Amino acid sequence: MEQELVSLQNQAREQLATIQNTSQLEAFRIRFLGRKGQFSTIMKRLGKVPKEDKPRLGLLANGAKREIEALYSEKQTALASGDSGVSQCCNTIDLTLPGRKPVPGKLHPVTQIMNEVCSIFEGLGFAVAEGPDVEHDHYNFEALNIPAHHPARDMHDTFYVSDSILLRTHTSPMQARIMETQQPPLRVIAPGKVYRCDSDITHTPMFHQVEGFLVDKNVSFADLKGVLTIFTQKMFDKELELRFRPSFFPFTEPSAEVDIACVICDGKGCRVCKRTGWLEILGAGMIDPEVFKKVGYNPEVYSGFAFGLGIERIAMLKYGIDDIRLYYENDLRFLSQF
Ligand SMILES: [Zn+2]
Repeated sequence: MEQELVSLQNQAREQLATIQNTSQLEAFRIRFLGRKGQFSTIMKRLGKVPKEDKPRLGLLANGAKREIEALYSEKQTALASGDSGVSQCCNTIDLTLPGRKPVPGKLHPVTQIMNEVCSIFEGLGFAVAEGPDVEHDHYNFEALNIPAHHPARDMHDTFYVSDSILLRTHTSPMQARIMETQQPPLRVIAPGKVYRCDSDITHTPMFHQVEGFLVDKNVSFADLKGVLTIFTQKMFDKELELRFRPSFFPFTEPSAEVDIACVICDGKGCRVCKRTGWLEILGAGMIDPEVFKKVGYNPEVYSGFAFGLGIERIAMLKYGIDDIRLYYENDLRFLSQF
């Protein structure tokens, strides 16, 4: 009987060590510790052993049962806390299972478009220059021929930091900053964030622009058209018709809003282009002689063009997205598509 007790105890220990879930554990409890389990059976037989062996065997049996009960409840706690208690030995790992891939981050779609725009213009020989987001009134307005009280300031909905400091409302201040310190010929683009107090389905208080300008002798409107034609073709991967509509900006003369044939319906007319077949994509023009005078260039000698385009606008057209706010809601379901 002593032998039987020891072997039962060993058997129970071994089996308990391999248990990995609660249903296995319950089966174990019924088999060993239940009312009709093996320990109960052996206890019942204690009544029939010779009197002199009873205390010794009784002690042994109780000790063995208590040990297994303790191990059982230990296992129960371990399973409840999600740990099987079985060491992750090599034979429990299935090497044929596919691995779990880490999900790497990606560039934000606005950053992707920004990089693409910059690399197209770099390919055309433009240098890239970045300026401060917090700007002097002078560079944002005065130097660009927008004096105080000029009605054009109303179009900008400016965030002022103080009377003379503001968050730049466009990337055009870089025109003045660069022309002030460098001499033509100049070919520069200035990408960056701009700020306007405006928020709806097509406007956010912060958005991205790329300003571009070229100054040299004998620069004409035809050069502007050529550069923009190449840019739009590369950006949208197809030959696109361009349309220039007369417009007004204080720092260019003449000025134009530039449209491309709708990339969604190929100019046939759809909801996005409001059935016109055209999409407005940027503003441009020949740099106003007044701007040249302010930075000390002779407008009789030099001429140049400038353009400004909205990155979100291009991203919306390129990806067919009609709500600009999607870009800034940090919804991974949206962002991971790019
Ligand atoms: Zn269309």
